[in-house]
Amino acid sequence: MQKNPTDILQHHWGFKSFKGSQEKIINALLRNHDVLALMPTGGGKSLCYQIPALAKDGLCIVISPLVSLIQDQVQRLKKMNLKAMALTGRIGADELIDLLDNCQFGGYKFLYLSPERLQQSLVQERLQQIQISMVAIDEAHCVSQWGHDFRPAYLKCNILKKLAPGAPMIALTATTTKEVSQDIMTALELEDPLVFKDSLLRKNIVFHVKNTEDKLYQLRQLIGIESGSSIVYAGTRRATVEIAAHLKSKGINADFFHGGLVSYEKEQKLRAWLNNDIDTMTATSAFGMGVDKADVRKVVHYHIPDSLESYFQEVGRAGRDGLLAKAVLLTNEQDRLQAKKQFAATQPDVEYIKLCYKKLNAYFQIPYSEGQGQTFSFFFNDFCHRYGLNPLLTYNAMKILDQHSVISLSNAFAQKTTVQFMAKKQELFTYIENHRALEALIKTVLRTYGGIFDYETPINTLLIAKKISRPEKEIHAQFERLQKDGILEYNSAKSDIELTFLLPREDDKTINTFGQKVTHFNNVKKGKFEDMLAYIDNTSVCRSIFLLKYFGEKMKSPCGQCDVCLNKRKQPLSELKKIKTDVFELLEQHAMTSKELTNSLHYEESLIIRVLQELLDEEKITVNEKNQYGPYR
Ligand code: ADP
Ligand code: MG
Repeated sequence: MQKNPTDILQHHWGFKSFKGSQEKIINALLRNHDVLALMPTGGGKSLCYQIPALAKDGLCIVISPLVSLIQDQVQRLKKMNLKAMALTGRIGADELIDLLDNCQFGGYKFLYLSPERLQQSLVQERLQQIQISMVAIDEAHCVSQWGHDFRPAYLKCNILKKLAPGAPMIALTATTTKEVSQDIMTALELEDPLVFKDSLLRKNIVFHVKNTEDKLYQLRQLIGIESGSSIVYAGTRRATVEIAAHLKSKGINADFFHGGLVSYEKEQKLRAWLNNDIDTMTATSAFGMGVDKADVRKVVHYHIPDSLESYFQEVGRAGRDGLLAKAVLLTNEQDRLQAKKQFAATQPDVEYIKLCYKKLNAYFQIPYSEGQGQTFSFFFNDFCHRYGLNPLLTYNAMKILDQHSVISLSNAFAQKTTVQFMAKKQELFTYIENHRALEALIKTVLRTYGGIFDYETPINTLLIAKKISRPEKEIHAQFERLQKDGILEYNSAKSDIELTFLLPREDDKTINTFGQKVTHFNNVKKGKFEDMLAYIDNTSVCRSIFLLKYFGEKMKSPCGQCDVCLNKRKQPLSELKKIKTDVFELLEQHAMTSKELTNSLHYEESLIIRVLQELLDEEKITVNEKNQYGPYR
């Protein structure tokens, strides 16, 4: 029994009409066509599968990469009294059977799950028995190795074509490069898909690149100008913490978010930011993916992203409400050298992978042409230390060996050893008095890691071992003892890393089979990074035109608002000078906001803001916490 899509839209969502290609996509799915939907962030991709799912009988399967995304979507649907279920987190076999029973017989319309969950045989067996109306693969660019969010398990989502043979499949993403589209269609085995592409142009986002020696100062000025919700992306976890601390010390309502936080902290911080209890979040790149916050006014990049794809995804989180928003990239020469260095230091080449593989065989004493199928406990830090290997580079080399099925690493490989103190400081001192053997470890950990009383902190056990001159194994034993005594919470990643050799040892020959692929991959990544640098260096093409061109779209007229356009616009210099003098004279009398200035001076607001920015850059004026500008003293 099919219902009319427009009725569903109005009835359940309360929206008047469809946006962009939504209606065409919905109709294609209702006619059982496979679809590839390329739409910008905030373009309304979710409705494209949710509405046909409601129009059709049966269950719609949705694959999504992040737990937070899944939970957010399922909550929304539940609030609308629609039956949606999420399979996330640790679920025991019994519970999983119950949930799947419920899904099969309880009239559910949506089942959200991660690509990894889909690989469980229990799930696959059951899906074959359920009537499936449709399959949606959200954030489908995760199938692509050229993309920035590659997730190997996404490659196996094509199994859904076998589990639900009659159901149409829709793949959705905001990344629209040709390579990524092609990868999606091939990997998911879309059959003769209809491709819909909405323009990525986000008219309300103004792009700026700002070269500056003092990024913190510029950031402060930027965030200070008209407050509002902002994200500041930084390249490392440490930087997110430091930048947030700096902003806070200047009276800006900021906090930080990164992948190393424990889940309740992530939830808490995300909620505070969604509710605008926190204005500015400094964050690493995953923050904000798929989060539907309408009023983000600024997205600032404090470090250079690795590609324009990443950059565009991240800035896309600004201005979903259609109101003016700003995307600013702060940079300087030093930054760029640093980024280049970091890039080289994380991307192992074929020679390095060969070296790691040789060392692995030596480490586990595998003779030639043997080793296949053997499993070992793997002490990664010890391994790197023994052969003087760079841990980050080696970690990435291990991942490549794993991806190409030379070895297999247990999931725990990705986890870090973490520690959090549970005892109060006073209890701890008493404990130390009675357990002198553990004193050195406790004190070293406290000295090395700030905040370890407040949250679960990733630690480097090898570093601690070196500091107190004990073998690493003993450090683990000591932590285990402390955990037993209730002093701290200890999660050892090491104890359960397992490495299995999948091929007999053949050294270089093994690696040569995919060496070219690795080299090609490295070159593509390098090329993407160079495109990113070209965007930064560009002074002649409107920023929006530049970005859209990269994504294969033509835009006719320049935006007129980005730094390149503004520099080109031949505002009669004399007029700007006059405005600047007028503004400065007024501000010398008393501090004012940009609105107040516009009202008193009767110039166009954009011109006022432009001269304010210039005066800020020249450090002639500054802005206070009430967003008033005054002379710099
Ligand atoms: P995407 O996944 O493409 O980033 P979402 O599906 O999260 O975007 O939708 C973004 C926002 O747009 C949501 O708040 C959604 O409710 C809203 N939206 C989607 N379609 C429409 C429409 N036709 N009319 C009005 N708002 C819409
Ligand atoms: Mg989405």
